[in-house]
Amino acid sequence: MNDSFQNVLFQLERATKLVSFSPDFLKRIAQPNRQIRVSLPIKMDNGMLNVYEGYRVQFNNARGPYKGGIRYHQETDIEEVKALAFLMTLKCAVVNIPMGGGKGGIMVNPKELSKTELERLSRTWMQTLVDVVGPHKDIPAPDMNTTPEIMAWMADEYAKVTGDTTGAVITGKPLEFGGSQGRATATAQGGFYVFEALQEKLGLPEVCRVVIQGFGNAGEHAADIWTKAGHKLIATSDSRAAIRNPEGLDVLALSEHKKTTGSVAGFAGGETFERDELLYQNCDVLIPAALENQIREDNVDRLQSHVVFELANGPTTPEADDQLFARGVSVVPDILANAGGVTVSTFEWEQNLKKEHWSEEEVFAKLKTIMNQESELIFERAQSLQTDLRRAAFVIALERLQQAMKR
Ligand code: NAD
Repeated sequence: MNDSFQNVLFQLERATKLVSFSPDFLKRIAQPNRQIRVSLPIKMDNGMLNVYEGYRVQFNNARGPYKGGIRYHQETDIEEVKALAFLMTLKCAVVNIPMGGGKGGIMVNPKELSKTELERLSRTWMQTLVDVVGPHKDIPAPDMNTTPEIMAWMADEYAKVTGDTTGAVITGKPLEFGGSQGRATATAQGGFYVFEALQEKLGLPEVCRVVIQGFGNAGEHAADIWTKAGHKLIATSDSRAAIRNPEGLDVLALSEHKKTTGSVAGFAGGETFERDELLYQNCDVLIPAALENQIREDNVDRLQSHVVFELANGPTTPEADDQLFARGVSVVPDILANAGGVTVSTFEWEQNLKKEHWSEEEVFAKLKTIMNQESELIFERAQSLQTDLRRAAFVIALERLQQAMKR
């Protein structure tokens, strides 16, 4: 059985030992408001019918409409979606945006479908769930293996069925279909604003030696943003290999190399080495931006970074978290570090509802204000509670949720 939901409950329990919450609130917050499981029958290109299983978990809407991505993956299931919906509830509360938490998915390997099959499946998901989503009810977004194009199909389907053409039912749409400026880089950009706010407080030098695990959407943008700000990317990796250069990698040239060869492996501006050794490079900041459960009890001893900055969701296990805290290594938690994505998604929703188009400067200025402010608040709370940043972020999110649920 997938134990992701149990893991989140475990983290919740740890945080609630620090501050007292009402027992009724704790009972309510540990369960989703609604879990929906649907069958999605799709006519394949060869005329055969396949039935896929789809989900939407609406975890909590005390602070605003449910909000969270839809993932397409052959191994996703309702337990995983429920855990992610809970984390979205906390993440939206951490950055204090007017959204609740939800998540959705389809158990499918999208690589096995043609584009037309994928479009039919995406439209069917929306048709089937049209009554439970909506700009003021539940606003999905992209997640693993779902793209702006898929969001546009879903927005179009929603408009056809309901007549609501605002596009505010879904975020992460392409710009020409009502998407927001800055959405593509929002996660890394938001992460950088968090980093800026905490850099000095965490005792980091002015120019940091940065290591990034995963040169994908979040990681590649982060490499670009951090190095443009004057920091040095000394190593990075993808699913095939890792590459390092103690003098700093040329990010633009590395991106070009990856575009032509499909990997960072063999890049002439650095030394290619074993993928999993990346985590153990000596550096100031290690940014996991690939997969969950990368830093665990069995390998945490080998880490040599001053700060772990979680751009990925769930890269550090609770046991490793405790050991890092005991060693004085700060972990900037995912629910803060990568919340820039959902924050700009909320800006997209707001622009759609108000029929406005904000410039990239406007989007990033608003994002910076939020990320700087909430990072400082979490840091101060961690200090006053003498705890780590993850527990402090959980405490702040739970206090905001408790307040909203009293209304
Ligand atoms: P992506 O698929 O674009 O990139 C993932 C990268 O990791 C790829 O380069 C892949 O080759 C690499 N990778 C896979 N296995 C690896 C391994 N074992 N070692 C090293 N590299 C490996 O995905 P993404 O959108 O960048 O997401 C990465 C993480 O960031 C995920 O945890 C995701 O949940 C989180 N995140 C992303 C966003 C976003 O807006 N993209 C928002 C919030 C959180």
